[in-house]
Amino acid sequence: MLDLDTTNSIEPSSTTHIPHRENIPSLASFVYGTWHHATQDFREVYHAITGEPIYRVSSHGIDMAKAVNYAKQHGAELANWTFHQRANALKQIAQALLERKEEFYALATATGATRKDAWVDIEGGIQTLFAYSSLVRRELNDEKIITEDAWIPLSKHGSFGAKHILSAKAGVAVHINAFNFPIWGMLEKIAPTLLAGVPCIVKPATDGAQLTQAVVHAILDIQLLPQGALQLICGQTYDLFEQLSAQDCVTFTGSADTGQKLRQHPHLNRHSIPFSMEADSVNSAILSPEANETTIELFVREVFREITSKAGQKCTAIRRAFVPENLLDTVQSQLINKLKKVVVGDPARSDTTMGALASLKQKQDVTHKVQLLAQEAEIVFGGNPDFKFNAEFPERGAFFPPTLLRCTTPDQASIIHQTEAFGPVCTLMPYQSIEQLAHLVARGEGSLVASIVKNCDENIETLVQKIAPWHGRLHILDEESAKESTGHGSPLPHLVHGGPGRAGGGEELGGIRAVKHYMQRTAIQGSPNSLTQVTHAWTAGASVREDRVHPFKKDFDELVIGERLLTARRTVTESDLVNFACLSGDHFYAHTDKIAAANSFFGERVAHGYFIVSAAAGLFVDAAEGPVIANYGMDNLRFVEPVKIGDSIQVELTCKQKTPKPQKDPTQPAHGVVVWDIKVKNQHQELVATYDILTLVARAANH
Ligand code: NAP
Repeated sequence: MLDLDTTNSIEPSSTTHIPHRENIPSLASFVYGTWHHATQDFREVYHAITGEPIYRVSSHGIDMAKAVNYAKQHGAELANWTFHQRANALKQIAQALLERKEEFYALATATGATRKDAWVDIEGGIQTLFAYSSLVRRELNDEKIITEDAWIPLSKHGSFGAKHILSAKAGVAVHINAFNFPIWGMLEKIAPTLLAGVPCIVKPATDGAQLTQAVVHAILDIQLLPQGALQLICGQTYDLFEQLSAQDCVTFTGSADTGQKLRQHPHLNRHSIPFSMEADSVNSAILSPEANETTIELFVREVFREITSKAGQKCTAIRRAFVPENLLDTVQSQLINKLKKVVVGDPARSDTTMGALASLKQKQDVTHKVQLLAQEAEIVFGGNPDFKFNAEFPERGAFFPPTLLRCTTPDQASIIHQTEAFGPVCTLMPYQSIEQLAHLVARGEGSLVASIVKNCDENIETLVQKIAPWHGRLHILDEESAKESTGHGSPLPHLVHGGPGRAGGGEELGGIRAVKHYMQRTAIQGSPNSLTQVTHAWTAGASVREDRVHPFKKDFDELVIGERLLTARRTVTESDLVNFACLSGDHFYAHTDKIAAANSFFGERVAHGYFIVSAAAGLFVDAAEGPVIANYGMDNLRFVEPVKIGDSIQVELTCKQKTPKPQKDPTQPAHGVVVWDIKVKNQHQELVATYDILTLVARAANH
């Protein structure tokens, strides 16, 4: 639901009803726990199809210092939640947003987007929340900090060492977003920030801000986040930057011009406040040499989709399409044939296949950029103002035709490689060699993404090596991957999004990497006991305690970190090797062939590594029925020294870490995961194998 000035409010779903000019509602911001309604300094936002004013935006009167302090005082409560608590909240938020998605689709029509375009923003954004929630629950322990290392030894006798930890920054993240993805743009940033335990202040672009505001409203409605964890500034930032300090950060998505200006803000520089920038990008698509008919078709389909989807207003859209010289005419005519069928107009009309730009200002900007590009290239399709648009009043909407240019001398061109027309615009260019191609691609001076469209059997390592340093992502498309490819233009939660140079030099997404951007990495030096205490994970060398009760007889809640079982010994015999070889079918010469083994690295027969693991289990397992439900897996297995016939092995099993699991199925016993550190040693106290095993252990009845 929109939060608008109450005197001039409109129903959220009635975006096609345009109020009289003197009666335009204003969009409220949400700061320090309340909706702020400005009274002056407004900027009007216009309907992309009808051109009529739909709302006004101003953040005049917001006390920015108070908003920043509010985040730090109240929103910082997030840092006291564990990763899994934050992830569970995010999942519930995603579910709540999904239930209200039609409200957002209704609002999106005013931005000129077709339903398909809006899907990327709305459901793509919500899916990013789901993806991050599940990533964190899967990959991070249910702790408040991330521990990066097992143990970095720094002393001879093991009493001093280190680990790196990451902890939530004690600040606020200010996210300034571009107009083209008002929902996804916010959600892909707040997901990792909130998961890191850091509160956010979101400042959407004025165009499209009503969508961001509606989503913030929906998030606040379910009251899951601590007060101050999410604030929204619709309008200008005024003196917001001056209120920030060393633990805060700013992320910016938008044009390079604005980004460069903001990045140089003296207050940010003086206080070393991180500024991450995602900006213009003159992305490429490359059709490989010797392309066959199918490859050409794939290439044309990809370029066409990137020109038309979201009317080309995607930071990842293909702006430069490189084609082998002999295929330039073929590709051009196939592309034009497809572009001719595009129906540009009002997305409310069922036959419209491409919507409008977000605003008349954008239309002006794209028109100007096409004029610039036309200094170095010929417009071979579109570009013309007399294009027929599918709308009642075509002259009022921000419509722009899909536009294809052709530049036959890309080596001499510069505007083509440097200018991003943020609309349905792409330039075709020929190349003669891989060397020249790599050089031309690099003239974009850093991009978010490039696609290489190739025949299945082609060798492309050289090209990838040459152009990868200029990109955040490379998408290799061929007949094999085309069946399931997510496409050139889709940033994915698990993959990094960002690029060097012109693209801003920032990095977003990329799975857990994104969460770490909002955390401080600190090397913690100390004794094994201190590090065990800090990280809640037993560290080799830290104190252990032994009990007469076998640890497998204890439920999850009774077990103590550092609890140890030292097993009996077992002497490995020749029969063990023979029996294990027969049982497993593994007759590798080093275990079974006395002569070959004598000539081998080991000088004699050695036990199978898997036998050692199995024999170790035989030594430490308590066979009787008890609280241990199952073996869940094994991590970090290393065979350190060989075990020879006649050697005696002994196991140290130490309770390393405990993670309670939420009880999804009430018919199953409540349980948690216990990680055990396993060290198998020989009769000389030498380590022969080390690993972690994970067991599911039932919780106490009264946990
Ligand atoms: P923009 O004009 O640079 O605006 C970006 C954001 O900065 C908006 O929220 C804008 O707010 C704000 N802003 C402008 N001046 C400011 C100032 N002095 N202080 C604080 N904030 C300020 O860019 P846009 O037109 O919205 O977006 C289009 C551009 O974004 C394209 O070039 C596109 O390539 C790029 N983009 C990049 C990515 C990426 O991930 N790399 C993603 C999407 C878009 P107002 O709207 O209120 O002015």
